[in-house]
Amino acid sequence: MSARFADWVSTADAVRATTKKLQKLALLGAYFQGLDDADLAIAARLFAGVPFPRTDERVLSVGWRALLDAVIARSGATGDDIDVSYQRHADLGDVAAEVTERSPTPPVPPPLALAEVADAFDRIAAARGVAPKREPLDALVARATAGELRYLVKVMSGEPRIGLREGLLEDAIARAFQRERDAVGRAHMLGGDIGVTAVQAKKDALHDARFVHFAPIGMMLATPVLDLAEVPKRFPPPYVVEDKYDGVRAQVHKEGDRVELYSRTFDRVTDRFPELIPPLRAIPGTYVLDAEVLALDPGGRAIPFTRFQRRLGRKVVSEELMQELPATLVVFDVLERDGTPLLDVPLAERQSVLRSLPLAAPLAFARSSAVGASGESLVAVLDAEFAAARDRGNEGLMVKDPRSPYRPGRRGMEWLKVKRALRTLDVVVTAVEWGHGKRRAVLSDYTFAVRDGDRYLNVGKAYSGLTDKEIAEMTESFKASTLAEDGRTRLVIPDTVIEVAFDQVQRSARHTSGYALRFPRIVRLRPDKPVSEIDTLDTVRSIAEPDTDAG
Ligand code: AMP
Repeated sequence: MSARFADWVSTADAVRATTKKLQKLALLGAYFQGLDDADLAIAARLFAGVPFPRTDERVLSVGWRALLDAVIARSGATGDDIDVSYQRHADLGDVAAEVTERSPTPPVPPPLALAEVADAFDRIAAARGVAPKREPLDALVARATAGELRYLVKVMSGEPRIGLREGLLEDAIARAFQRERDAVGRAHMLGGDIGVTAVQAKKDALHDARFVHFAPIGMMLATPVLDLAEVPKRFPPPYVVEDKYDGVRAQVHKEGDRVELYSRTFDRVTDRFPELIPPLRAIPGTYVLDAEVLALDPGGRAIPFTRFQRRLGRKVVSEELMQELPATLVVFDVLERDGTPLLDVPLAERQSVLRSLPLAAPLAFARSSAVGASGESLVAVLDAEFAAARDRGNEGLMVKDPRSPYRPGRRGMEWLKVKRALRTLDVVVTAVEWGHGKRRAVLSDYTFAVRDGDRYLNVGKAYSGLTDKEIAEMTESFKASTLAEDGRTRLVIPDTVIEVAFDQVQRSARHTSGYALRFPRIVRLRPDKPVSEIDTLDTVRSIAEPDTDAG
């Protein structure tokens, strides 16, 4: 017989009630030890705050409305009661508990068992449509006490706060069954289901964990460095130096004939890139790859991301769009090959496994080179690589440590990304705003414009990157040149020229020009430059859409 859900709830309440880590671990450990295998798996998943593990593609798909309606039906609360309670808790689970607590209707017997909760999730996920889902949902909610409903609603609404930190849960499992903490973490990372890991820990079978295909794992992240000279300060050579491609990240899984692509957010995006699937399927065996999808022009140069983006929003890609912006998959890492997980293997070795894969167009290896020199020439070599990468239309460089393992979901110092501000524009300040905090007494936020004939059209807003002294001087000068005041904002005479750096230009309805600079920052004041010589709308347009003739 499956254990009572009420015991899980009282454990969860007790864990939440203490801030002491050791106490949390002791509570969880004692609870886990008393469960049979099936209940252990369910209980562990619930503590992770999810109805289904990462390896399971099913989703509940119950919206907030349906959840609220079910809670209203169970508790007899009015919409107003819910609103008032929500103001107080800002958490649907706590709201559900509070209004149900006050309800005269007792839960339908018998008390819920863990297996019944899991079973209800299965049925809700399997039902298609709002009304069909309501049936198993209402049945589950009717059985729950107020305290039980708190957690059921949290899990179903995707409220992350019920989930214990992954690390804590792994700790608790390791302690409960006296296993190595690292072995638990590793098994969980490979297997992708904390329920399975818990049972493996119990049975002393953590080494059975296999890399589970079609359960995307976290992608390793890079730390930005602003200057190539900073690289040797992070770690010593040799380096693996790769072009940094400006597209979208993809993790590719293959087993049997099945190939899937996943985005950084773990969404399945396979159908968006139909042209990539046959060549991926043609690679024999199983694998997991880390890669970037982008479009290249016929000469092999990267097409700017802002153009490729047009294709990304589409779930179904037209033939025409595929012709115009064909996708290339640039592969830079391998995490599993033919049953062998490679996460713990140093990058240098992963690279040789990677390079042995038979890739056919439109699949390609990332441009990669080993840089081993040291001292001054090292930075010179990196500089030349950077310039070459930029000439190929790429964003910059990735500098990676060949000794490093693949660390899922971590941003560390073993992968560095070097992107320089692409360019700068000379613009004129049209409006200024009082700053915040330390800067509330100075006009530190500038809205700026480019020229279009004799009009000035705004393209962005930036917090001043100037020195305090400069900001103070500018404040006085802006006060004197104020044309109109509107709340915190002052329109000023457009005669202050500044140079701003940015990453990209995007179309935007926010500014009068129809464009917005992404990540703008003020580089310096340009008192030497007359307003008549600032950059124009045509220039902005040509950066945003380099394929047009503008500028
Ligand atoms: P960012 O998005 O600026 O944080 O830069 C990191 C991103 O660069 C990764 O998430 C990848 O999508 C992308 N990227 C492009 N080329 C590479 C490469 N050779 N190695 C790793 N990541 C890359």
